[in-house]
Amino acid sequence: MTIDQELLKILACPVCRGRVEVLPSGGSIPEGLCCGACSAVYPIRDDIPVMLKEEAIMRADWDKGERLAVKKNRQERAGGYI
Ligand SMILES: [Zn+2]
Repeated sequence: MTIDQELLKILACPVCRGRVEVLPSGGSIPEGLCCGACSAVYPIRDDIPVMLKEEAIMRADWDKGERLAVKKNRQERAGGYI
């Protein structure tokens, strides 16, 4: 399932309100939405774009194959709660 074009039109970067576009991910399945203005990438999980600045991965890291920033952040956050 791909992200609906109508949905894309109403989605905006939570950091800068810029337009986001689907990043190609080696198949027809999008993995992330990239903000054209600030280069933050928002992951798509279970076909749902996660438009939270806490979940954003910088485009440079994303292009390097980085998908673990979110997990790392989660662990750090979880650690903070203990
Ligand atoms: Zn942005």
